[in-house]
Amino acid sequence: MARPHRYLVQFNPKQTPHFFTDILVVGAGIAGLRAALEIPKEIDALVVTKDSIQQSNSTYAQGGIAGVLSPEDRFENHIEDTLTAGGGLCQRDIVELVVREAPHQINDLIKFGTKFDEEEGHLALTREGGHSHRRIVHALGDATGFEVMRAIIAKAKEAPNLTIWDDTFTIDLLTHQGCCVGALVDRPNQGKLLIWAKQTILASGGVGMVYRETTNPPVATGDGMAAAYRAGARLRDIRKRFGSLSWRTETWPKPSSTARSASTLLATTRSSISFGSGWANAGIAIKPSPNASRVSRRIPFPS
Ligand SMILES: Cc1cc2nc3c(=O)[nH]c(=O)nc-3n(C[C@H](O)[C@H](O)[C@H](O)COP(=O)(O)OP(=O)(O)OC[C@H]3O[C@@H](n4cnc5c(N)ncnc54)[C@H](O)[C@@H]3O)c2cc1C
Repeated sequence: MARPHRYLVQFNPKQTPHFFTDILVVGAGIAGLRAALEIPKEIDALVVTKDSIQQSNSTYAQGGIAGVLSPEDRFENHIEDTLTAGGGLCQRDIVELVVREAPHQINDLIKFGTKFDEEEGHLALTREGGHSHRRIVHALGDATGFEVMRAIIAKAKEAPNLTIWDDTFTIDLLTHQGCCVGALVDRPNQGKLLIWAKQTILASGGVGMVYRETTNPPVATGDGMAAAYRAGARLRDIRKRFGSLSWRTETWPKPSSTARSASTLLATTRSSISFGSGWANAGIAIKPSPNASRVSRRIPFPS
């Protein structure tokens, strides 16, 4: 396939303001902010996000997060459940990594201040379709992403080494000799800006808004993948997941619990981006909730 133009827009570096940072993180969903929180405090990082910080798929995630947390459960069960539900699309080593890591990651989210729902003083675990055991932690019933992002955004705002720019659209990645060295962004009242970074973390989420009915928020338009592709990255394993319960009405009928259970999916997505020879893989166990049926609207978020 023919490569697109290297840059989406024209710009003159001599007439464009420059900004320098140690690490640039593109995207302020759970992937971007979680990565940013791992950056040592003596290293400066700039997180850019194209809308308000609350607007991400992460905020809309509903049903919960799967992890082996019950003494009756085993990693092997979760791995096999995931591989079965994945229908041959999953990469076993990534599934194993994600499953074994899940309890630590859930624990970290609790340390960051996430209040998962509890039952009798313990984490309330539910069982959803595809899972052989109860292993889903959730918050505020089925507004898990909202609660997780509330906590993680607060934590990121407290971090002295993190600067967060809302409303900053990443247009393209800058490259030099095959390496990413930052990004060309656009900001209201400032226009185009060149951000130079020693490391760039691309966490700009997936592609939504392709079909009329969607559960994705309007920010999910795959810009990062397109920018990476223009910069020379190879993209692979791009797949579209269809939510099984999408209705366009605002007053959608709540499905019965049987229908909910039957339609809940367990899948492992795998996506990879590569500059040069190595592949970086990311796997996420996804357990969408039936309430994902609503067409996404902007969620009012407490400041
Ligand atoms: C309705 C719904 C329910 C879901 N339920 C669950 C669930 O129960 N459990 C589960 O595990 N998963 C669930 N998911 C999936 C989950 O939300 C996503 O897998 C996860 O949030 C992806 O996180 P992310 O950080 O990679 O991307 P996102 O959260 O989408 O974050 C991407 C970030 O990049 C920014 N961005 C995008 N383009 C640009 C650009 N050009 N310039 C600057 N910034 C940009 C966005 O503004 C955003 O801040 C659900 C998703 C939806 C939509």
